[in-house]
Amino acid sequence: MKTIEDFNFKDKKALVRVDFNVPQSADLKVTDNSRIQAVKPTIEKILKDGGSVILMTHLGRPQGKHLDEFSLKNIVPEIEQVLGAPVKFCPDCMGEDATKMTGNLKPGEILLLENLRFYEEEEKGDSQFAEKLAKYADAYVNDAFGTAHREHASTAVIAKYFPSTKFFGLLMAKELEAINKVLGSGEKPVTAILGGSKVSTKITIIENILPAVDNLIIGGGMAFTFIKALGGKIGKSLLEEDKMGLALEIIEKAKAQNVKLYLPVDAIIADEFSNDAERKEEEIYDIPDGWMGMDVGKKTQELFNDVIMNSRTILWNGPVGVFEMPNFSAGTIALGDSIAEATKLGAFSLVGGGDSVAFVKHFGYENKVSYVSTGGGAMLESLEGKELPGIAAINS
Ligand code: AMP
Repeated sequence: MKTIEDFNFKDKKALVRVDFNVPQSADLKVTDNSRIQAVKPTIEKILKDGGSVILMTHLGRPQGKHLDEFSLKNIVPEIEQVLGAPVKFCPDCMGEDATKMTGNLKPGEILLLENLRFYEEEEKGDSQFAEKLAKYADAYVNDAFGTAHREHASTAVIAKYFPSTKFFGLLMAKELEAINKVLGSGEKPVTAILGGSKVSTKITIIENILPAVDNLIIGGGMAFTFIKALGGKIGKSLLEEDKMGLALEIIEKAKAQNVKLYLPVDAIIADEFSNDAERKEEEIYDIPDGWMGMDVGKKTQELFNDVIMNSRTILWNGPVGVFEMPNFSAGTIALGDSIAEATKLGAFSLVGGGDSVAFVKHFGYENKVSYVSTGGGAMLESLEGKELPGIAAINS
């Protein structure tokens, strides 16, 4: 893996693709600056070497138009505050201004280019657009894991103009290391916990991770398709009827590959999909008609806890219950507690993919696990075994 640690940026201009697609309030203030914090080490390393940094990113979906509400000028103060350094702003990522401002940039300075997606060429992966961007700098650094699964001009296409000076930023390197740990290089036993609503959205992940894991825990709405396929009564719990065959295939594949598959043994059931519904605890194979499983029960929490406490490498993707409703969040909280405890005792834990980050932040587990991925879609595709264009472009 070629990272910025392998290069001295002294007197060099680095064009750094970051993901500053940050959430904003109605008055366009940044409401969560984690994505800016996440690339600070990369920027600092380049400046410390004596180089200069040209930051480029997208923000929102302006679809090729210059729209003020998506202008990066609105987030400059936040970037300056996080980096603790002045940030120059170029009001266009193309044209004379950009050529002049990038040309005049001095070692130690940071320049932010206006939103790349003000040009439709960015998302189209236009080579000429990428080549123009490439002319601004001596080196290209990709530290935008969140867009690594997109083959856009600035995330992938541009790399070919830097055949020997293209590098992964430090955030990207951390993401790739974390994925490699759960998919192969991590200490055993390796346990993957997959929750969430549907089998269909997780099937490719399951198939891809089976050869790498020792234990596979399946919870959340998707578990009911397995339980029903195994002959259980699931009432009106979430079911993907057309995926029952697939569920049985996964069970067989897990057996064949010596992976221990754990399903919930009990559930908190409700008479309707509402926080205020009537609720009780029931055996997972015996959910009465008119009731649905909304969370895992106490026995399941203990079972999952035992597996997790005996694991050295842990991947967590998806909640095991309807965590948005307080009455059905206990199972997901207990699971988070188990993972936090295992991490404290030395296990490596990665949380990521899709909306996983939302509930980890929601319950404050962010600092209690080893690594929380910054890229929902990109992490999902990595776990599915796909080679991401942004990563392939640097590696090739
Ligand atoms: P996903 O986006 O597939 O990771 O799924 C996350 C969603 O799964 C959350 O919004 C949860 O509310 C939902 N979920 C988890 N467990 C259940 C369940 N037993 N029944 C229905 N939805 C669930």
